[in-house]
Amino acid sequence: MSQSLLYHAFGVREGYDYVRTEYPAGAVEFHLAVRADQFVCPDCGSRHVIRKGARERALQTVPIGFKTVFLVTEVPKCECKDCGAKFEVAPPLPRRMCTTRTNWRTMRRR
Ligand SMILES: [Zn+2]
Repeated sequence: MSQSLLYHAFGVREGYDYVRTEYPAGAVEFHLAVRADQFVCPDCGSRHVIRKGARERALQTVPIGFKTVFLVTEVPKCECKDCGAKFEVAPPLPRRMCTTRTNWRTMRRR
């Protein structure tokens, strides 16, 4: 699994680094982390930003054989130390995917 496979197979172009692959029942999950250069305050442009936790989102993408494939990304919650703005860092993912957060949770319980 390489960064270029993410680019070419799934259309993930920028903003994320590949972290690991997990194989819950009947599915494949590619876990992605937000790249360090994305941590910039949207209000003032400062890079003096601290992380204050994160949530996860899972997007279903094109299947591999009979396996359902999800891209699982963290969505870091951040705070700007210069202007105090609070924001989430979520670089866009390919549009052909649909959000399947609920299905994803269901699948993992199987
Ligand atoms: Zn700021």
